[in-house]
Amino acid sequence: MHIIIGLLIAFLIVAIYARRNRATRGCRWREDRSGDRGSLRKYRCAACGAEAFTATKGPPRDCKSDLPPA
Ligand SMILES: [Zn+2]
Repeated sequence: MHIIIGLLIAFLIVAIYARRNRATRGCRWREDRSGDRGSLRKYRCAACGAEAFTATKGPPRDCKSDLPPA
């Protein structure tokens, strides 16, 4: 019984941390056409320097970096 309660608490802590990470959306994605790979568009974050490729239109939704927004 205590194990189940402990697992529930651990799950809640993970859920809270996941939400916090989701809240850090300080990225400013800039399109980098020189880095395109075929149909993938390269985006570079001007805030944290993260790089991401997207196959769809528009920049990535969230930050790829674990760093807090400056
Ligand atoms: Zn970023």
